[in-house]
Amino acid sequence: MSKRDYYEVLGVSRDASKEEIKKAYRKMAIKYHPDKNPDDKDAENKFKEAAEAYEVLSDDTKRQRYDQFGHDGVKGSGGFGGGGMSMDDIFSSFGDIFGDAFGFGDFGGFGGFGGGRSRQRVNKGSNIRIRVKLTLQEMVNGVEKKVKVKKYTECKTCSGSGAKNGAFSTCNTCNGSGRVTRVSNTFLGQMQTTGACPTCGGEGKIIKEKCTSCYGEGIVKDEEVISIKIPAGVTEGMQLNVNGKGNAARRGGIPGDLMVVIEEEENEDFIRDGNDLIYNLYISMPDAILGTTAEIPTVESKVKIKIDPGTQSGKILRLRNKGIPQVNGYGRGDMLVQVNVWMPEKISREERKIIEKLKESDNFKPQPKKKEKSIFERMRDYFG
Ligand SMILES: [Zn+2]
Ligand SMILES: [Zn+2]
Repeated sequence: MSKRDYYEVLGVSRDASKEEIKKAYRKMAIKYHPDKNPDDKDAENKFKEAAEAYEVLSDDTKRQRYDQFGHDGVKGSGGFGGGGMSMDDIFSSFGDIFGDAFGFGDFGGFGGFGGGRSRQRVNKGSNIRIRVKLTLQEMVNGVEKKVKVKKYTECKTCSGSGAKNGAFSTCNTCNGSGRVTRVSNTFLGQMQTTGACPTCGGEGKIIKEKCTSCYGEGIVKDEEVISIKIPAGVTEGMQLNVNGKGNAARRGGIPGDLMVVIEEEENEDFIRDGNDLIYNLYISMPDAILGTTAEIPTVESKVKIKIDPGTQSGKILRLRNKGIPQVNGYGRGDMLVQVNVWMPEKISREERKIIEKLKESDNFKPQPKKKEKSIFERMRDYFG
């Protein structure tokens, strides 16, 4: 079998720049990566072929010799000339080319690229995201919530091992090492490849008999009541992570996380404006004239406020520090009480007589102070 042209292998032109060559190789390496193509001999060969081409074309001197003399010009270079080339060689030479291509953990079985290959494949359970509705009071004061979460939990029958009675036997394929080295004859000569053992998936042991509760998975579908401590001062849309409370992982791996998204329950008492709360207070017309006390709900409890005689409808009373505490714990917003004078929609004949009498009084004619700000101006002062 004759060697393919290196430029052809990478699919680049003969005058391709170093950057183009690197990009082309990276693409090929990712496409034919052994972790993406387990037990695919063809992909493995393509992976090696690309590595060989890149090894030559990325080096100015070697590339020049190759351009001039073809494959003969670079014979024996870099250990690729005909001796055994292993996957380890590729990773130690070009490991960094993968860099950001593979997210952490996706290809855990292959171990650190370019470094040691001792890392074992670790199963990781997936994260679970739930929404928790809280009242304003709960958000302000903090609360402990118990929630029932449907999730995968560790199988109790086998303690998550997946094996009936905990019985394992050493894998015969890899003799317990979890890794297998294969030697094959290719156009590059004899090649050695080391990878995760296909029989045991790199664990080095195999289950003698599968647990009947979980069918050997070590996890079962279940639900769990989880207690979540929500700190004071959370806001709508905030996300809290509860470590290790997500789905359990297959056969004793690391469980995922529980992600709790905070939602605010509709509140009938208040309108929220940042850390300030707005409360609409309705008082009767006689109370507005004579003065009264009113009870105002707050996020903690209730407060009583005094309404002066002759209070105009629309007046805003500011209760300092009765709003929402700052998330950082320093200071808090105010409560703004807007006074509304409630007008009866229907009145009796008797009431009408009284009102008509009041109407004659000059005292009941509007006498706004010239400098008195309108409701809108006052609202703008508060909220603008
Ligand atoms: Zn089990
Ligand atoms: Zn094995």
